[in-house]
Amino acid sequence: MEKILIVDDSPLQGTQLKSILNEEYDVTVAQTAEDGFALAISGDYSLILLDVVMPGMDGFTMLKKLQEEVVTKHVPVILITSLSDAENESHGLMLGAVDYITKPFHPVIVHARVRTHIRLYEYRKQLELLSMTDQLTGLANRRRYERYSRIKWQEAIRLQVPFSICMFDIDHFKAYNDSFGHPAGDKVIAAVANALSTRLRRSTDFVARYGGEEFVAIVLGGDASAVFGLVKKIRQEIENLHIPHTPAVSEWVTVSSGGVTIVPKTDTDYSSYLKVADAMLYDAKRFGRNQVVWYGDDQKQWVEE
Ligand code: GH3
Ligand code: MG
Ligand code: MG
Repeated sequence: MEKILIVDDSPLQGTQLKSILNEEYDVTVAQTAEDGFALAISGDYSLILLDVVMPGMDGFTMLKKLQEEVVTKHVPVILITSLSDAENESHGLMLGAVDYITKPFHPVIVHARVRTHIRLYEYRKQLELLSMTDQLTGLANRRRYERYSRIKWQEAIRLQVPFSICMFDIDHFKAYNDSFGHPAGDKVIAAVANALSTRLRRSTDFVARYGGEEFVAIVLGGDASAVFGLVKKIRQEIENLHIPHTPAVSEWVTVSSGGVTIVPKTDTDYSSYLKVADAMLYDAKRFGRNQVVWYGDDQKQWVEE
């Protein structure tokens, strides 16, 4: 059920609108723009019905604030105006409201407008998700990773929680393609992706296809030794899939991995730590592949035995 937020200082109006929409949607009512705004940025609403005239913060101010927040800037806002409010209507539409409804409410019109804008919004979200998903593996793609990593990096700075960046790269994959062909190689990429996402499924975990046969994972919250342990387990699980490689190269398909765990400070730069993870991966390759190398919280390199 899609969630709708109604922001209206009049309890009567709020209740009326809620009763019109309650059967089809999950409706929440806030009586001030301040409360409404707080709900909007923490909830996953598909539509906001917003009264223009309210004491305290008015509807226009709230609309502007919603558009400044990443999480709400695309959520459609329908303004609630009274019949004589042509000026408010046009002002609201210029500010980016998608539509308006007038008091007194006509249930059929309210329904029609709400339905249209929720549909458009859901469609937009689907497209956005598609554009952020890697087709072969179903994992997040590079674009989604870029966005996610930057947002979570800021969050880790704010909350002072450990942030781990982990790179994975399939070993001798060129040789695999050369022996078994590109379509078989694609299946291996999908199998590795599946192994990664099976292990990294907490809400604080994230895994993306970084490029051809490379993956990147972000883990929030675990300390360095815990995440190093987890990644070693994943590396072992991929080896244990027992996907035959070319005997001259390796018995099974394996991955190498490099990573780093840090509690980022305000002035620390994400890309410099990505370089650290990449350097660890490079060393994992250099030390013989099929292993994990970590940059530990003791500023030392941890190498898997
Ligand atoms: P290393 O162990 O050092 O990582 O060796 P490697 O051969 O895996 O590394 P290299 O970077 O030389 O080659 C990567 C290969 O991955 C080359 C490319 O053909 C293959 N590859 C990249 N993307 C895809 C893909 O989408 N499908 C398939 N089948 N192969 C891909
Ligand atoms: Mg590579
Ligand atoms: Mg490789």
